[in-house]
Amino acid sequence: MAAESPIAAEDLFRGLLDSAPDPIVIVDGSGNIQMVNRQVERVFGFERDELLGRPVEVLLPERLRANHVGERRRYMENPRTRPMGVGLELFGRRKDGSEFPVEISLSPMRAGRDVLVTSIIRDLTGRKEVENQLRATAAELERSNAELEQFAYVASHDLQEPLRMVASYTQLLARRYSGKLGEDADEFIGFAVDGARRMQELINDLLTYSRVGSRALELEAVDVGKAVDGVIVDLGGAIDDSQATVTRDDDFPTIEADPRQVQQIFQNLIANGIKFRRADVAPEVHVSARREDDTWHFAVTDNGIGIEQQYLDRIFVLFQRLHSRSDYPGTGIGLAICRRIVERHGGTIQVHSKPGQGTTFEFTLTNGRKKA
Ligand code: ADP
Repeated sequence: MAAESPIAAEDLFRGLLDSAPDPIVIVDGSGNIQMVNRQVERVFGFERDELLGRPVEVLLPERLRANHVGERRRYMENPRTRPMGVGLELFGRRKDGSEFPVEISLSPMRAGRDVLVTSIIRDLTGRKEVENQLRATAAELERSNAELEQFAYVASHDLQEPLRMVASYTQLLARRYSGKLGEDADEFIGFAVDGARRMQELINDLLTYSRVGSRALELEAVDVGKAVDGVIVDLGGAIDDSQATVTRDDDFPTIEADPRQVQQIFQNLIANGIKFRRADVAPEVHVSARREDDTWHFAVTDNGIGIEQQYLDRIFVLFQRLHSRSDYPGTGIGLAICRRIVERHGGTIQVHSKPGQGTTFEFTLTNGRKKA
């Protein structure tokens, strides 16, 4: 026979109740409070004696009480363990009238003929505060991001005009006065012409970059193979100059995408494949497409200088370049534009490279389903 516990059952029950971390209220079938634990006193600010025998609605804001009486009667018709008011915002009310958000779980318990209902109440004040703070921070971030986008767009757009002026007049100076003002002057004018041209490139690329972010995507059926052919024609000058060979697979899909942006991404990647060539071999760039499940993967592979492993993440960041302009011209915006285009289409872009052997950029345009 088991030894009788030295602790009386009621004391054990009380002790358990009081050691629970959350307020617990036990009510009878008529909704009158039969028992509360210590946490109820602490959280709601009532003494135990002020609550016993009173309707449980005393712990609710007044505006919710009438409704609660109806809800509690309905619960008693089919009492079972469940959370209260799923999807609703629930509130408790302290003795001083202040309210706080709560989460409540209910469980029925048979006691002789009566059914008692245990409510475990969790004070959500802290959690709600964190949620609200997070929401406010996210909204603030979104706002400042939009502001920044707008700023980049307006700044690059408005700078174009005065810059055009500077560029054309420095070019004019160069044409008219070259050889007439002395060697120094020729050199200075040369720097000014070069600086203005570089700034124009930067501003144009920046404008393209911010347009990709701010314009709505214009989705239509794009024959990707044709788009690639168009880019190869456009790059004819660079291809001839470098004696490059640019080829593509035969089988390309038609996808739903923004045609200008599709063109832009191939343009940047193929141009890079030609630009970052090795001195010892003529550049070869191949564009391929393969289907995996429902997604098309496009790739641009070159036999150029390659990229060291540790720089692979960095190159997609705005203005990040691995070389000086005298070695390879550029603004460091092309790949940032590519990543933006891909992400706006719901895809991803990756790069694999072997330094000294070549590089492959692979991307998906997930939004682009194959047309039947
Ligand atoms: P840009 O070409 O104007 O420098 P990008 O954003 O297109 O700017 O590229 C960023 C950097 O990534 C380049 O400066 C270069 O160092 C590296 N890179 C891009 N494409 C290639 C490539 N095909 N082969 C080797 N390096 C590349």
